[in-house]
Amino acid sequence: MRVSRDLRIRAWGAVLLALAMVLAVPAACPSAEGVSDYRAIFKPFHNDRGTLSAAIRQYVRGGQSRFLVLDPERFECAEADAAAIQSGRPASPEAWQETPFARALARQTAPPYPLQNDGLRKAEHPVRGYFLTADLCPSKKPLDRRVVEQTAGLPLKPPVPIALMVSGLWIQRHEEDLAWLKDQAALGRLRITWVNHSATHAYDPAAPLERNFLLKPGTDFTAEVLSLERLLIERGLLPAPFFRFPGLVSDRRLIETLRGLNLIPIGSDAWLAKGESPQPGSIILVHGNGNEPEGIRLLMAFFDRQRSAFALGDTALLPLREAFRQD
Ligand SMILES: [Zn+2]
Repeated sequence: MRVSRDLRIRAWGAVLLALAMVLAVPAACPSAEGVSDYRAIFKPFHNDRGTLSAAIRQYVRGGQSRFLVLDPERFECAEADAAAIQSGRPASPEAWQETPFARALARQTAPPYPLQNDGLRKAEHPVRGYFLTADLCPSKKPLDRRVVEQTAGLPLKPPVPIALMVSGLWIQRHEEDLAWLKDQAALGRLRITWVNHSATHAYDPAAPLERNFLLKPGTDFTAEVLSLERLLIERGLLPAPFFRFPGLVSDRRLIETLRGLNLIPIGSDAWLAKGESPQPGSIILVHGNGNEPEGIRLLMAFFDRQRSAFALGDTALLPLREAFRQD
């Protein structure tokens, strides 16, 4: 009798503990909730303050319908709930086409569709500074934290801007590095622009470029784009409306699909490990995934050469948005 009562109490204790854990998990870390039904949409609208923006993605998180809303002046996305979208006044596609983002998207996805390095390669207008982009392609090596440490340590006003071009397979093998990067941003050291670099980043060293990277036959390009965004959102990060093609390889079909997804392709005119040297306005390309140490060495040398100009305010590292014309 006594034994069975103890067992019953213990069994109830276990049930209550399990229930408490189930209830506690979503409340403790809301950003880690799964995201489902992730899809691309396009709904331009005016919000309560009359500002024009567009919902470009819809998904379900925590049982709620959510939206990614693109700010066409700041070139940034924010998360919104259904009420914010429903209370908005619909805007015409024509009004949207006049926004700085839509104009930049049209310019950077126009013909002639080169096989390599399509999209923004340098600033569209004169700027006093450089745009630093670091690719995180799939890699078994840890994040090259020197890139981040040295960038954050430059004599520039924090947070120092850097664009990280991140792939899904890199995220899945580097959760600790990703958490560390989030910490650096939260500490106010870095202003990280999270740029989509595809989910799987297919690469075959033996295949010709026309059939390599995202042009590999059988690749579902839209799924490559959207599933990477979902991975970021599940980790509490918001994707920027930019995309870097793996290998900088694309064709007309991919560029037109990207335009339909409201993402601007980002190329480079200063891939350091390929011997290209940065000029003012350059989009600098290095790899932060440990696979291209020569590029990092050249970046450190570039930083050393620019250090006094940075300190004097003569030049700077700039966020990608500033590479685009304002009109
Ligand atoms: Zn890559």
